[in-house]
Amino acid sequence: MTTDVSIPENIRELVKGVLKGLFEFIDAEVVPLEERDREILADERKFFGPDGRMVDQALDARRDVRMKSAEAGFYPMYAPEDIGGGGIPVTAMVFTQEGVYRRYGPGRPYIAWAKGLLSQPIVASFVDGPSHMLASANETMRKQYLPSLLKGEKTLCFALSESDAGSDVWSIKTKARRDGDDWVINGSKQWITNAPYADYAVVFAVTNEEMVAKRQGGITAFIVEANAPGYSMDGVLPVMGHQGGDCGSLTFENVRVPGDHMLGQLDQGFQVAMFGISEGRIAIAASCLGMSEYALDRCLDYAQQRVTFGKPISEYQAIQFMLADMAIDIYTTKYMVLQTARLIEAVPQGGRLPVKEISIAKAYAVETCQKDYDRAIQIHGGMGLTNELPLEEGFRIARTLRIPDGTSEIQRRTIARQLLRGDTVF
Ligand SMILES: Cc1cc2nc3c(=O)[nH]c(=O)nc-3n(C[C@H](O)[C@H](O)[C@H](O)COP(=O)(O)OP(=O)(O)OC[C@H]3O[C@@H](n4cnc5c(N)ncnc54)[C@H](O)[C@@H]3O)c2cc1C
Repeated sequence: MTTDVSIPENIRELVKGVLKGLFEFIDAEVVPLEERDREILADERKFFGPDGRMVDQALDARRDVRMKSAEAGFYPMYAPEDIGGGGIPVTAMVFTQEGVYRRYGPGRPYIAWAKGLLSQPIVASFVDGPSHMLASANETMRKQYLPSLLKGEKTLCFALSESDAGSDVWSIKTKARRDGDDWVINGSKQWITNAPYADYAVVFAVTNEEMVAKRQGGITAFIVEANAPGYSMDGVLPVMGHQGGDCGSLTFENVRVPGDHMLGQLDQGFQVAMFGISEGRIAIAASCLGMSEYALDRCLDYAQQRVTFGKPISEYQAIQFMLADMAIDIYTTKYMVLQTARLIEAVPQGGRLPVKEISIAKAYAVETCQKDYDRAIQIHGGMGLTNELPLEEGFRIARTLRIPDGTSEIQRRTIARQLLRGDTVF
């Protein structure tokens, strides 16, 4: 945890307490499970079935961790109190993410599985469980779905992207048409994290084509049950050298949804989506910060132990410069993440939504994280490439994170658009 004076005392104390409890929980409840399941965790041919889905033993263990974490109060801690979450402020959330990744690194399956997208299943995020996004649920939806989500008994997925609509959200083709009091959904989704395992999906569908054509609304977010007739999970999409994974494709064929199964208002689903995605972007930036620190810690140890030509490699300027460059990245990322988190926290008090800053933090953190893992592998020589160390996995995770929740190009597009609209405050 940081000792920085610019972090408010109450936040520093909160993060210290949360991390202490979280580390105790992980060491007591998660590490023994990892030991127990080592045989399947260490071998992807055992961890994933032939269809790319995690095997039942892995899913049961994940569920077990999730529910225990919920019981201990960690699982929904980033979700607002209003919906039964822990309500911890964004500044505390980012330093909690940082702390977990700095301590455990990218390679621990239960902590950083899902390619390190978030610390699922210990703490829920908007792509799998209770989050700020669900605050827009109406009373009926809250009663029906929140209790099982908060307990970690059930999970959800966030189904926005389609095969022809990733960066360009407005081109989604999935449609919902009214039929009496219900909505009937048809279409398909791709790249959906947790889709192969989710009990519910937040599905974004076009409800008003004219509004969508003007990019002024017309998309609605529906809560759909995975066992609804016509809902199917078509397959797992493994990424970056994995044999299976968390991402899947979904198809909806005349899936009937009751009229009140919405998140947010009719035709206003784009805002719901962007709310979730913004939360994801800052959480990814914070996770990358912790991952880079983990890599630097490993490098500092290794560089002082590894001797070549009669000296520890830490005495060579070539190595020192790589260590220094990692520190420059970490220091810069940290203050970007902190400043952005503070701006997000100030929004309810009338502050501006820090659209530009969220994009800057996400793009910078994932790109420098990948550079830092590249340097860390180089400093470790051949050892850096083995899968005994999580450095190669960290490199793959960081590379992967340049795509979801907005690619690096889309972050730059957002930053430039904000600048050109006059948002030049730094
Ligand atoms: C691991 C992973 C998890 C994901 N999880 C989810 C999820 O849970 N839910 C969900 O809905 N989606 C999810 N996605 C989808 C993700 O959001 C999209 O992959 C992403 O938005 C990019 O869309 P695309 O893949 O269609 O690429 P495209 O949009 O086709 O982009 C292709 C390339 O063109 C560039 N490009 C596109 N438009 C522009 C432009 N205007 N200017 C400059 N460059 C541009 C992009 O940056 C990229 O380099 C996930 C993806 C991955 C890889």
